[in-house]
Amino acid sequence: MTSGPTGRTGPTGPTGPPPGVGARTLDRLTADLADVGRAPGGGYARSAWTPVDHELRAWFVEQAQVRGLDVVVDRAGNLWAWWGDPDAQGPGVVTGSHLDSVPGGGAFDGPLGVVSAFAAVDALRAAGLAPRVPVGVVCFADEEGARFGLACTGSRVLTGALAPDRALPLTDADGTSLADALRSAGRPPLAADPEALARVGAFVELHVEQGRALADHEDRTGVRAPVAVGSGIWPHGRWRVDLHGRADHAGTTPMDRRSDPVLDLADLVVRTRDAAVRAGALATVGKVLVEPGGVNAIASRVRAWVDARAPHEEQVHEVLAALADLAPRRESWTPATSFDADLAARVARVVGVESGLAGAAPVVATGAGHDAGVLAVAGVPVAMLFVRNPTGVSHSPEEHAERDDCVAGVAALTAVLGDLAAGDGT
Ligand SMILES: [Zn+2]
Repeated sequence: MTSGPTGRTGPTGPTGPPPGVGARTLDRLTADLADVGRAPGGGYARSAWTPVDHELRAWFVEQAQVRGLDVVVDRAGNLWAWWGDPDAQGPGVVTGSHLDSVPGGGAFDGPLGVVSAFAAVDALRAAGLAPRVPVGVVCFADEEGARFGLACTGSRVLTGALAPDRALPLTDADGTSLADALRSAGRPPLAADPEALARVGAFVELHVEQGRALADHEDRTGVRAPVAVGSGIWPHGRWRVDLHGRADHAGTTPMDRRSDPVLDLADLVVRTRDAAVRAGALATVGKVLVEPGGVNAIASRVRAWVDARAPHEEQVHEVLAALADLAPRRESWTPATSFDADLAARVARVVGVESGLAGAAPVVATGAGHDAGVLAVAGVPVAMLFVRNPTGVSHSPEEHAERDDCVAGVAALTAVLGDLAAGDGT
């Protein structure tokens, strides 16, 4: 059994943090963010490097400052708040997530991890922890990639996985490039930052679950687990398919004389779904451009994007093989990412005790990409905590986690950080 630096052995341990410190911070910071970047159609619109994003980043800096944490902005635009000096005493144990959202995104995806990180720091301090290694809170920039189309831009540029030359010319829907967006934000162009990365000895990302693996999970004594530990991230790719036809008049072209690529799109959508079901994969056509896009015009071209993921790469390849005659062009590919198994087992034991389970917390893989996956690929020992999401819905205003589960998430994160920052190394 792994016990925390405070000698704490469970949620009711006599020497643990005063009850409620983490929960109070969770409530207060959640309320701070509740109205920032609300979207007119519901949910949130918090795209990277917009005025709303600047407001969120300023809030992060303020939260760091009121706690006396040292704020560092790395060359890839990510924000770090350090308790202790990672250059003198590091590398440190880092937790955090992101504050940007997809259009119409939920309140939990990203912010729950950042809010819980500050809450865990408050709880550790209230318990009188003197960490042996520095503890950091991070806010990764542009995780969702909603504006410029590339996910995890901040962490990928940081680790060198994404060349700035590839990211900076990308444009948003209004034609503004990432380089211009940074310039208007008063930021220098992005660059890799090996020094910032070297400060991270281990990274723990808490995130709302984006599925239902936990919703019905009970341990052998019937206790329901509010928090799971991640084992890794599924392989994931995005492909573009161009379907060509002949533009013509909707009111004068006989049905048998048309070359309509929207019909081919319908076929693509159905075939993608069928192939995914056969392969046991998840595949989605979620973005489509129809040209010229007139209500009274037969289209000349349709451009569609296929997103495919599965527990194993062969399953993703099976989906794409079923679309081979349409010549899909691969736009991105992320191989399967496995988190450090020893660290996951250690974290699962700590979380299991903290959650009052009879054994370790459940360990689950996820199909959603995360900055944690990018850091894992760069060689950082990484762990993820997932907070139960009763419906599994995410990237939607319906995304939800119960407050009690979020409080359990903070307690689990506090215990894990306490264990790693005071323990026998990571
Ligand atoms: Zn997220």
